[in-house]
Amino acid sequence: MYAERVLSGMRPTGNLHLGHYHGVLKNWVRLQYEYPCLFFVADWHALTTQYDDPHGIVGAARDMVIDWLAAGVDPRRAIIFVQSKVPEHAELHLLLSMMTPLGWLERVPTYKDQQEKLEHKDLSTYGFLGYPLLQAADILIYRAAKVPVGEDQVPHIEFSREIARRFNHLYGREPGFAEKVREAVKKLGAKRARRYEELRTHYQERGDQAAIEAARRLLDEVHELSHADRERLCGHLEGTGKMILVEPGALLTAAARMPGLDGQKMSKSYGNTITLREDAASVTHKLRRMPTDPARVRRSDAGEPDNCPVWQLHQVYSDEDCRAWVQQGCRSAGIGCLDCKQPVIDGILREQAPMRERAQPYLDDPRLVNEIIADGNGRARHLARETMRDVRQALGLDYI
Ligand code: SF4
Repeated sequence: MYAERVLSGMRPTGNLHLGHYHGVLKNWVRLQYEYPCLFFVADWHALTTQYDDPHGIVGAARDMVIDWLAAGVDPRRAIIFVQSKVPEHAELHLLLSMMTPLGWLERVPTYKDQQEKLEHKDLSTYGFLGYPLLQAADILIYRAAKVPVGEDQVPHIEFSREIARRFNHLYGREPGFAEKVREAVKKLGAKRARRYEELRTHYQERGDQAAIEAARRLLDEVHELSHADRERLCGHLEGTGKMILVEPGALLTAAARMPGLDGQKMSKSYGNTITLREDAASVTHKLRRMPTDPARVRRSDAGEPDNCPVWQLHQVYSDEDCRAWVQQGCRSAGIGCLDCKQPVIDGILREQAPMRERAQPYLDDPRLVNEIIADGNGRARHLARETMRDVRQALGLDYI
């Protein structure tokens, strides 16, 4: 069994904005205290759509890592690394591509969606079609049990699970597997062996998820089992064989919709963002110019918070008393829009202050960022190599 590793990555898009902070980074910061976490810069993924202009990727990757650190991702807790510095991702991607039916890739829902969204780009490339498989390799190479995703990304995780299952099914049957399983079952002792077989039957005949979990727990209790025997018994449970690649699970994250300066979702493509470390003058300027309820033309006109994008930001940044003050003051024209915006400005600046502080040492001395990334690359590579050793062995590619 493997530690419950969490893996998540981001394409390097340069400075991150508050939408990234509320939607992703806050969650990463929490997860790093709960699981062994790996967070990576998906620079090869950036090339799937940016292949014609790759030069900005390095700078964007550095800025993005500084934002992660600013947000509170702690390199002593989580491994921060760059995908292209762990070339084993590419090796696993290639090997998986040999056994991946083309139809599986064409069916991934985002394939057509993205092609339509980015219609100004020629995305009829081999790399773009294969990007879900590269994503699967990113996950499977770390035997990550949990991948934090929003609802829309669940099909990608399901795709990775199918790939792992197929791989284990094709290559997980070592010579003499059945005999080795029989021997391993004996090592459980008569009572546990009986229970293991019962649970296995429950799972295989009825797909009973609770039974397979109970069986895994039972195997965890037997400390004298070797790693190889444990793997065999896990594989036998699921009817696959030896589990070489771990099927990942989606760690569903509640969709945190961070409103942008125009009330739409905050996104670089809408030009409605506030970056994580944007300076105070710029934040204040942007907020003061933010549109409000269009019906409130004059100061004396009453407004309706539900029709105002500023109100959406109050829902993120203000406490109950302040929100009541806005509701009452807006509807009675008791407050002006600039008064109303001030608590939001204060709230954003308060949120950003520790981020700016945490980022400063990395801006003063960029070598610190290089060191963090180099260290993370080394640690990630060590884990990736462990998996690749088993993958090569399963394929018979370990002959020299
Ligand atoms: S008072 Fe506040 S909520 Fe009302 S329109 Fe002005 S900015 Fe919007």
